[in-house]
Amino acid sequence: MTKWLYNFGGLNTEGSAQMRDLLGGKGSNLAEMANLGLPVPPGFTISTDLCARYYKSDKSFPDTLKYQISTGLKHIESISGMKFGNPENPLLISVRSGSRASMPGMMDTVLNLGLNDKTSEGLALSTGDSRFAYDCYRRFIQMYGNVVLGVQHHEFEDLLNRAKENQGILLDNDLDTKGLQDLIANYKTLINERTNIQFPQDAEEQLWRAIRAVLDSWMNIRAVKYRKLYDIPDNWGTAVNIQAMVFGNMGEDCATGVAFTRDPSTGENKMYGEYLVNAQGEDVVAGIRTPQALTSTNNLKGNETDESSLNTEMPKLFDQLREVSRTLENHYRDMQDIEFTIQKGTLWILQTRAGKRTAAAAIQIAVDMVNEGVLDKQTAVSRVNPEALEQLLHPRLDPKAHRQVFVKGLPASPGAAAGKVAFSSDQAEDLASKGEAVILVRPETSPEDIHGMHAARAILTSRGGMTSHAAVVARGMGRPCITGALDLHINEKEGSLTAAGLVVSEGDLITIDGTKGEVLIGEVSTIEPEFTDAFATLMKWADQLRHMKVRANAETLSDATTARKFGAEGIGLCRTEHMFFESKRIVIVREMILSENKDGRRKALAKLLPIQKKDFVDLFEVMKGLPLTIRLLDPPLHEFLPHSETEIRGVAEAVHKSFDEVKYRVAKLHENNPMLGHRGCRLGITYPEIYEMQTRAIFEAAIEVENKNKFQAVGLEIMIPLVLSKKELEILTKTIEAVAEETLKEFGSMPNYIIGTMIELPRAAIKANELAECAEFFSFGTNDLTQTTLGISRDDAASFIDTYVRQGIFDQDPFTSLDQEGVGKLIESACKKSRLVAPNIKLGICGEHGGDPKSIHFFQKCGLDYVSCSPYRVPIARLAAAQAALQVDNNLSNES
Ligand code: PEP
Ligand code: MG
Repeated sequence: MTKWLYNFGGLNTEGSAQMRDLLGGKGSNLAEMANLGLPVPPGFTISTDLCARYYKSDKSFPDTLKYQISTGLKHIESISGMKFGNPENPLLISVRSGSRASMPGMMDTVLNLGLNDKTSEGLALSTGDSRFAYDCYRRFIQMYGNVVLGVQHHEFEDLLNRAKENQGILLDNDLDTKGLQDLIANYKTLINERTNIQFPQDAEEQLWRAIRAVLDSWMNIRAVKYRKLYDIPDNWGTAVNIQAMVFGNMGEDCATGVAFTRDPSTGENKMYGEYLVNAQGEDVVAGIRTPQALTSTNNLKGNETDESSLNTEMPKLFDQLREVSRTLENHYRDMQDIEFTIQKGTLWILQTRAGKRTAAAAIQIAVDMVNEGVLDKQTAVSRVNPEALEQLLHPRLDPKAHRQVFVKGLPASPGAAAGKVAFSSDQAEDLASKGEAVILVRPETSPEDIHGMHAARAILTSRGGMTSHAAVVARGMGRPCITGALDLHINEKEGSLTAAGLVVSEGDLITIDGTKGEVLIGEVSTIEPEFTDAFATLMKWADQLRHMKVRANAETLSDATTARKFGAEGIGLCRTEHMFFESKRIVIVREMILSENKDGRRKALAKLLPIQKKDFVDLFEVMKGLPLTIRLLDPPLHEFLPHSETEIRGVAEAVHKSFDEVKYRVAKLHENNPMLGHRGCRLGITYPEIYEMQTRAIFEAAIEVENKNKFQAVGLEIMIPLVLSKKELEILTKTIEAVAEETLKEFGSMPNYIIGTMIELPRAAIKANELAECAEFFSFGTNDLTQTTLGISRDDAASFIDTYVRQGIFDQDPFTSLDQEGVGKLIESACKKSRLVAPNIKLGICGEHGGDPKSIHFFQKCGLDYVSCSPYRVPIARLAAAQAALQVDNNLSNES
């Protein structure tokens, strides 16, 4: 008989943390905690295999499941001493999802299951607290009615609020028993009206329907979207955890809360968290009531406070919780996010999982844990998500800038961002897709807002605490976030925000300072980030572990300086055309390309030479002997042409020609498909004087810098773009060598240099062995190689690529993350072929994929020598390259 479920609790725990794939994160950790002897309410986990079978077999259940569930319930009953569905001493259970990867709040949960008209009476008798019993029943009907029966949540909330109004009590306060009983009757009527069925009284029926609802929630829209966003395969499925309920809402000696074993914002080694007295778990997460801090010294804003806290109100339980927190962190060797409930003075642990944290905290924790002897350096390096570093690398608010504070809230996720106010997630997504910077403003967020939060630069909520949905998700995504801005009044209908007499309208600019918890009016200036010692330490360890070098794509002094600051070990791509676009130069460039003959072009090029030379001098100076790959002119001449009448007039004046003559020449140079037209090395073949000028400028600059720096050699690499045949390379190598000879004659010295090519066309990849015979390096230009292999224009893909990703044709945008199955195969075989011919050929990549962690893992497997990416992604690439090296090393050691 296939085993579908696994018990935990008491002396009969069948799972462990090793069984995460089968039992999901929540289920395997519950089993592990039970094995550790921690106070976990008993329960059982239905495996993810059942979910897979459910979807494969037209949502049917295997015959054996019924029997197994009845034995699982007996297991809970025997430990708890209560009976499921029995009015005398009713056992209530929770039914929760739990997949292999954490998907917080994306799927469904049902609490207090097992209550009906009779068992609620029984609960009232057995607890001696009828208000509590009917409140549980009311919550259960509401949750079940929404999750299982599909009645809108707000319809229940409306009835609840109306009941409170009728009793003349504040919304934050609770109804009395009579009020609850009336409300329960109204809830049942609502369900009957909306679904045409009676609220089910049979506990077994309730359970089966709830299991089905949890399994179905694996495929709800927000879960599917979340999986796409975080690359979680659809076929993993969810487990279903069924567990005895414990109650944090049985009175003032009860509570429920969340504890992080370290501070998730800073990484400080100090237990951190929040709790609510007399509440159920969902109250903390929903952020409807503002929770209290666990310790008085670590209140929500990090200030000393005399507000009550768990360590002052329930010191013994606080100590016990701290002990559990230590045990769990030591056991998992990672920061944990723990959910707990205190029922009448007894502590229960309901969940533990690796805690989501900011990038700064992730780094601090990883480095501290190595220093504490808990982790080795390799594990520490592999613990930090390279993409998360993005949060640290971007500017923060300039402390000297003028700040007009609009409203304050909790500093839920650090960093700063400015953008236009959007009131809904759809609106945020829409504006962001048009290139706008957006700040999502909501009373509170729910899992439905995941797409809007992702699209927004920052998030602001008027409600919720530091562990509310908005706070947790924003920290994970690295978005600055402020929660609990209680003085903020959001009027969605009128499209306005008010606070302290100030009004901000939809579309107005605001700035979020997530580090301080301040919302500022307008756009406030920012300053460059500074790096902590922990960051430097982690990056040093990463550098010791990685095999591939990391360079940057840069052509300006400022980009090259930033690249060096971020640890780039050279420039892998200097796009010389970018140097031509400056306003004064562009006129000379236009003069050159619009000339009808070589002489005219040479005249214009002579004017460009000293300008180009100065650019290269600057770059050589910054790179101090590190490799600098300079690519000769690449883009279609078409891109430099004047378009407007004023531009044409400007060129006409500069070259002393008539407007019409220039206009005619522009029309002649027009191309229908410039990306596949007169560009790349084709320019060097047809107009050798352009490459001659560039080469001369490069050599002269190198000589000048070498002489100035007492002959310290520059690391010069000249790169020829868009090559498709060995013949092109041979011709252009001769052009370069001829200039080298002339330069040597003229200056009496020549810098060392090597010549290589970009691999940007499928033909070049296929002919890599031939090209390798006359190139000293290859740099894969994966932007063009993707465009030319897929036959998709990189400039026009945006309008349909999302649809392709949504429909599963691509897993990801192939211009962001390498299409390993297609373009990757060309790269792989080009590497192999070229190394057979030229074992020492230097191989690198300089397309956008050079900064994408997933692609970097692929490049490591291909054995590339370096990746080159934009300056701000250099630390991300350094860390990703270290992780890729660790993976390759581990695989090798497992094989041997
Ligand atoms: C490339 O094609 O990958 C590349 C780096 O060149 P560019 O983006 O300048 O075409
Ligand atoms: Mg290219």
